Amino acid sequence: MSRRRMPSGDALVGVVADGRIEGPIAMRIQLVPSHASEPDAIQFVTTVLVNDVVAIDAGSLVLGLGLEGQRRVRHVIITHSHLDHTAGLPLFLSENQGSFKSSFSVHASRVTIASLRQHTFNDVVWPNFEKFSLPNGGGPVVRFLEIEEGRPFELEGLRFTPVATNHVVPTLGLGIEDAQAAVIVTSDTYRCDAIWALANRLKNLRAVFIDVSYPNELENLAALAKHLTPQSLIADLAKLECDPAIIAVHLKPGLRARIVEQLSKIEHPRVLPVVIGKTYEF
Ligand SMILES: [Zn+2]
Ligand SMILES: [Zn+2]
Repeated sequence: MSRRRMPSGDALVGVVADGRIEGPIAMRIQLVPSHASEPDAIQFVTTVLVNDVVAIDAGSLVLGLGLEGQRRVRHVIITHSHLDHTAGLPLFLSENQGSFKSSFSVHASRVTIASLRQHTFNDVVWPNFEKFSLPNGGGPVVRFLEIEEGRPFELEGLRFTPVATNHVVPTLGLGIEDAQAAVIVTSDTYRCDAIWALANRLKNLRAVFIDVSYPNELENLAALAKHLTPQSLIADLAKLECDPAIIAVHLKPGLRARIVEQLSKIEHPRVLPVVIGKTYEF
């Protein structure tokens, strides 16, 4: 089954081989694998793929997706400047520029764009692709487009609402909506009111993919590095007024077993560790 957008609205629909429309199909979210030998269990870097076409963060964009999958990606949103969220972007642009019809769109906050320009695409670490032209004359290889907290934007039939999370550098979590469902991808965060205010506001919220990087015994370190633990997640869930699935991501690889054990003891049936590489449908 292929996908296309209905001209009359934003809902994605399934179109079978003979052209019949099978009605609305689900929003699809995948945490892209980032480890070769244990792809479904170990997450070193972050890319969350939405409907195959929008990548939230570029950590595993080239590690976990083959070239065919990479070429389906139309937009990358970078939530913050940290390496585990940006590492794959230089290689992605380098390897795929020959297939771009026009400048590739990377969406990020003003400070994150400044960081990418200064620290990555600086003609030292990697070429400055804003001054390199596409082979087809379609403009520069990349264009950086500014997004900001509280200003929703639309891409590929999806509405994205950025919110500022509580992390050590400016970071944007994202609400994602189509006609049927809403999902939140928090990116990196410690305890944060804005995430839950957004969760309580979104209609049809089905899941929150949330940073749970450390086990409870490292709460002090987690608070310094501004990531959640199972216990600080539970404390924050008191702010939630609806009942989405709570899917823990960003588990530190060496601490994963402890975090999973602690999550399993939480008396909340909707809190689960992510299965990396699984396509969740909402
Ligand atoms: Zn971070
Ligand atoms: Zn991170």
